[in-house]
Amino acid sequence: MRPKFNLTFSTDKIDKASHIRKDKNKIDLLASNSKSLNLIVWQGKILLDWQNESPKICYIPVDHKLLQKAKRIAFLGFIEALSPIFLYALPNWENEGKNYDKKLGKFVDNEKVTHPYLPLENRFTDLKKVLINLSSKELSICGMAKSLFEWHDNNKHCSRCGDINKVFDSGWELSCSKCKNKVFPRTDPVVIMLIERKDSILLGRSSVWPKGMYSCLAGFLEPGERIEDAVRRETFEEVGIKLRSVEYVTNQAWPFPHSLMIGCRATAESSHLQIDYSELEAARWFRKKELISLQENNNFSLKLARKGTIANYLIEEWIKRSE
Ligand SMILES: [Zn+2]
Repeated sequence: MRPKFNLTFSTDKIDKASHIRKDKNKIDLLASNSKSLNLIVWQGKILLDWQNESPKICYIPVDHKLLQKAKRIAFLGFIEALSPIFLYALPNWENEGKNYDKKLGKFVDNEKVTHPYLPLENRFTDLKKVLINLSSKELSICGMAKSLFEWHDNNKHCSRCGDINKVFDSGWELSCSKCKNKVFPRTDPVVIMLIERKDSILLGRSSVWPKGMYSCLAGFLEPGERIEDAVRRETFEEVGIKLRSVEYVTNQAWPFPHSLMIGCRATAESSHLQIDYSELEAARWFRKKELISLQENNNFSLKLARKGTIANYLIEEWIKRSE
């Protein structure tokens, strides 16, 4: 029996309307329309409305004074035929936001920040904090917005000559003012693998993860490398295990900051682990019975990767597959 497929960050319900990106007049007209949905990101956090129990994206009307302070960086597409979505980046502001520095390397940033032009329930929030609270459509929009924002934020200057990059193609292309070098939104491929042997799977944890959390091993593809080779290399580097077979399962966009998680399944040749503690805090084999008990018992001291993530999907799919 296959589990319900519930991976987040699929953009199949969004019409990205890429054919109009180059039409600056049309895009400007859409942006000035009162129906435009204006999503604002500040320091990588998305403006959400927390007035109800479940947060929602807080779209800011086109005539709101906050939008005058923000810079429009991209046209994301349409969610309804007449509702264009635009991505705005807000710079730091006086007082509260003045000296704020983006939290780098943290698993989740719990600080929800208000702005003086907005009611208290509107707060800039780390997307990782609301992975199970937002609707799948809103997660898709936020995922795309967050990835694109991070790409713009990290590419203000030309990587070739250091001059200022200018925005083209409604935010989907940057070009250097001086040497004309062009760059396009980047996606970093990451392999994530469920490694099985007999009735167990291998899970590990990083020291920056929440206490007790275990997940599938993962790592970035290196230049010139195939997916299967990256799975074998990363597994051997992290736990010293050779793999017998590797097969692709599924993938997931992962906007932290702009990755594509490539989910694979592999069979281990042996079970003895030689853990690289500079990469992992711990890794061990989990038997199926133990994982089922983890799923059923919320008070258990161990936690698996969260629902909606590809790691959770791979683990649940393995448990269900042989039931
Ligand atoms: Zn340049």
